[in-house]
Amino acid sequence: MLRRGGGYGCTMSYQVTKSDEEWREQLTPQEYAVLRQAGTERPFTGEYTDAKTTGVYRCRACQAELFRSDTKFESHCGWPSFYAPLAEDRVEYIEDTSMGMKRVEVRCANCGSHLGHVFEGEGYGTPTDQRYCINSISLTLEPQADEPDTDEKMRHRVRDDAQDEVQTQEKMRH
Ligand SMILES: [Zn+2]
Repeated sequence: MLRRGGGYGCTMSYQVTKSDEEWREQLTPQEYAVLRQAGTERPFTGEYTDAKTTGVYRCRACQAELFRSDTKFESHCGWPSFYAPLAEDRVEYIEDTSMGMKRVEVRCANCGSHLGHVFEGEGYGTPTDQRYCINSISLTLEPQADEPDTDEKMRHRVRDDAQDEVQTQEKMRH
């Protein structure tokens, strides 16, 4: 789908295009500062830094699916870290020379919002040797829904209900 007659005179065409005012209205000031002004949240403050929930991480600005929890790894760097995007076409890369460093900025390919940076060759031992260092505030985690239950599973579940509850509490404590 091509955007026709876009009025902003910019050459990048995203599926989702909004004016600055519209973004300011939709996003909180903190979200706006990171997503639209390429800010960085303070390390170890984001809600997903240590999240291990199974699910899909969506762009907080446009809801595009960007990362999966199964590529998230513990980098101990203070931000959620992934070794690959959900698909290469979900993100775009822009050379960033701010702060006197040569870094590669990662943006949402659907709306152009800033997500974070990607680093390479740090020796984390992940399949790609890349670290997508992404701000929690740029993402919304959508936990994976349970698979549709078969009858067999349902019976099993009813029987083990009480036990499940104990196990859930167990997990919470860890
Ligand atoms: Zn987006």
